[in-house]
Amino acid sequence: MNENIIRQIKNYADKENVPIMTDDGINYLINYIKENDVKNILEIGTAIGYSAIMMCSVSDDIFVTTIERDEKRYLEALKNIKLLGLENRIRLIYKDALEVVIDEKYDLIFIDAAKAQNIKFFEKFENNLNNNGTIITDNMNFHGLVLKNDKEITSRNLRQLVRKVKNYKTFLEENDKYTTEFLNIGDGVAVSKRKI
Ligand code: SAM
Repeated sequence: MNENIIRQIKNYADKENVPIMTDDGINYLINYIKENDVKNILEIGTAIGYSAIMMCSVSDDIFVTTIERDEKRYLEALKNIKLLGLENRIRLIYKDALEVVIDEKYDLIFIDAAKAQNIKFFEKFENNLNNNGTIITDNMNFHGLVLKNDKEITSRNLRQLVRKVKNYKTFLEENDKYTTEFLNIGDGVAVSKRKI
């Protein structure tokens, strides 16, 4: 992978306030892909293509489908994917993920989009998961806010969002089709493995 282009992508994210995965989070994903021989990945929330590109960098036989609804970010991701010559391995869909119809099955589904909609994403896309597949969700700690109690969060909107992240955590804990591990990596990662 061209280190200069990766650095440029990270700098752009920094400058334009685009939330991309932390180094810890990305390293965890890369190791997970290597150790579990993941080949086909579905990502919800492309932003500017950083995590899709990094996941692809593990090996030449990895294919990623990634969905983004924001036009500016989609165009930036398209540019970055082309710059790295990854058009044949990253399929970029410009649409709201909840409106996309996908038939393929994936070894790994990575949810990194609007936190309030995580349950909807999970329930929609688990139909696209291979039998022994895994769903990984980022931002489970929501920048430490899930550890605070309601009264400490003064903004009503933020309180509602935190409640939704907590509800998603409960949804995963109570979902008996999956075993979920919650890891304190990056902004908190949930790793949900389908029980066979
Ligand atoms: N995975 C990216 C990375 O680490 O490089 C970061 C993704 S960023 C945290 C979340 C992205 O999801 C935003 O660019 C946002 O526009 C997009 N998004 C949020 N809700 C979405 C939806 N319903 N459908 C498609 N994209 C969505």
